[in-house]
Amino acid sequence: MSDETLPQADIHATLTCPMCGTKQKVLMPPEGFQHYYKCTNEECLADLAPLEGKDCVFCSYADKPCPQRQLHPDLSEHHLQSLL
Ligand SMILES: [Zn+2]
Ligand SMILES: [Zn+2]
Repeated sequence: MSDETLPQADIHATLTCPMCGTKQKVLMPPEGFQHYYKCTNEECLADLAPLEGKDCVFCSYADKPCPQRQLHPDLSEHHLQSLL
């Protein structure tokens, strides 16, 4: 019964490309940010970067924030990155 102490982040997310609107299932890295993402739609292939004020592409475009942000919702981006 040791697995009920640590908070678990959900690494499964659905990311919506802002360029073509394609929804794509992504696995987020549990312990890090991802600053770039390439759309999987072969007719788009947009290189996505985080929106201003967001720490990563998941916080910007996915249906849930990245794992680090889920576990530390109140930390600033600067503090989050210093945890890594
Ligand atoms: Zn796209
Ligand atoms: Zn994030």
